[in-house]
Amino acid sequence: MSDLLKEIGKRKTFGIIAHPDAGKTTLTEKLLLFGGAIQEAGAVKSNKIKKGATSDFMEIERQRGISVATSVLAFEYKGHKINILDTPGHKDFAEDTYRTLTAVDSVIVVVDVAKGVEEQTEKLVQVCRMRNIPMIVFINKLDREGKDAFDLLDEVEQKLGLTVVPLSLPIGMGNEFQGIYNIWEHNIQLFVEEKKQRVGSAVKFEDISDTKIDEAIGAKAAATLREELELIQEVYPEFNRDDYMAGNLQPVFFGSALNNFGVRELLDAFIEIAPNPQPKESDTRLVRPEEKDFTGFIFKIHANMDPKHRDRLAFVKIVSGTFKRNENYLLVRENKKMKFSSPNAFFADKKEVVDESFPGDIVGLHDTGNFRIGDTLTAGEKMSFRGIPNFSPEHFRYINNDDPLKAKQLAKGIDQLMDEGVAQLFTLEMNNRKIIGTVGALQYEVIQYRLEHEYGAKCTYEPLSIHKACWIEADEKSDEYNEFVRLKQRFMARDKYGQMVFLADSPFTIQMTQEKFPNIKLHFISEFR
Ligand code: GDP
Repeated sequence: MSDLLKEIGKRKTFGIIAHPDAGKTTLTEKLLLFGGAIQEAGAVKSNKIKKGATSDFMEIERQRGISVATSVLAFEYKGHKINILDTPGHKDFAEDTYRTLTAVDSVIVVVDVAKGVEEQTEKLVQVCRMRNIPMIVFINKLDREGKDAFDLLDEVEQKLGLTVVPLSLPIGMGNEFQGIYNIWEHNIQLFVEEKKQRVGSAVKFEDISDTKIDEAIGAKAAATLREELELIQEVYPEFNRDDYMAGNLQPVFFGSALNNFGVRELLDAFIEIAPNPQPKESDTRLVRPEEKDFTGFIFKIHANMDPKHRDRLAFVKIVSGTFKRNENYLLVRENKKMKFSSPNAFFADKKEVVDESFPGDIVGLHDTGNFRIGDTLTAGEKMSFRGIPNFSPEHFRYINNDDPLKAKQLAKGIDQLMDEGVAQLFTLEMNNRKIIGTVGALQYEVIQYRLEHEYGAKCTYEPLSIHKACWIEADEKSDEYNEFVRLKQRFMARDKYGQMVFLADSPFTIQMTQEKFPNIKLHFISEFR
């Protein structure tokens, strides 16, 4: 086998998605501990925006620092190289998470046993479903009193639209929590009572009727377990890897990240079933990881912490071939050859310059403003990867220049911040006024602060009552389209890539427009072709 194939076979690149507080950071940390990538708990900095941080710019800046450090966490486990891509749980940074999901080959969804499926989880899982990303569900905090396991499985199916198959089952819960029956490995892992901080020995058995089970957990719990396992066999489909890979079936594990319980089982199943780096569609063809020539795409750009140096770090997911330091690569959009003398690879607690990276890996490239999110890099081939969509923002405001002498700086600052994907810019067709659209209100303060500190420009905002940005699909030569544009001219704008967008002021407007102009399709996502 060639070195490239061997490296591809070792790699698994995934993201953990969860509503804030479900236990993403804790689980990440426990996974890294298993990989020996960190020595003690507490080493992974929480990448959370604390409550009340909205007006605390130092906090935002601190967060930006942390999120560079934790953007990619890599570790080795049983001969595999595992890359975890960090996905901010805070809803104001959801767009960042959506984009990161274009660079993962699978995800683990963390659900809090007491809170069940929460809002942010729903949104993120929806994005994963759109892309048929294989998902494993981890139900966390079993040491606490929570919902009944079967009710939760129902909730996951209904709210997340998944087809689940439990691969483990809790025995009791909260104070009664005894351990986990591992359906995947056919054993029981006992939870040691004292302080509930230790994992007991695993009880192995051949068959569910084995009396060792009764000895281990008591006759009553054993009877319940047998009933529940029977129910599982009747109600849920059997696990099938092809269905999981196609995004049609999602295995579920139970555990407690904090107590490191059920985490090893999750990880062992993960390395067995989760996909290696996958092929990716481009505008011309499907690109396979095992191809010799390097290709990759940029899914995240991070500004430097030091405002005096405006350099940035662009995160490239390698799709095919071997990425080499100091080779000439083509930035396809600009038709520009570039060489990288100090590409970074990421580890659990550091980044380092590397000579070679392989499909599934993320490299960090220093950039002085050449890159844009979604850019494709190749060894020379002119093709672009698909699939970094923009979603309609939730908030819209006019942005005005507050210092006439700094108009150029403002334009440049806005341009670069939009390239980084901090927010979306729309320019009104009618009068060229600029509108900034964001997922959360926090971004407006970040933009204002960064424009001032990094570009020396001042801006103010003006409220604007827009409900959604709708990307338009229509025959632009048709009478219907011309009539639509004439009627709605005050609401017509272009996005950063020149695509026509209708800024609808209410759900009602959208409904009316669709009734009146049936041949004009409105999309809430920029990628619809
Ligand atoms: P994140 O926002 O999803 O990254 O969540 P964190 O990992 O920061 O966890 C949120 C809170 O839940 C923290 O106080 C954790 O200590 C706690 N937590 C995480 N896992 C467990 C668990 O298995 N059991 C209990 N009781 N608490 C947990």
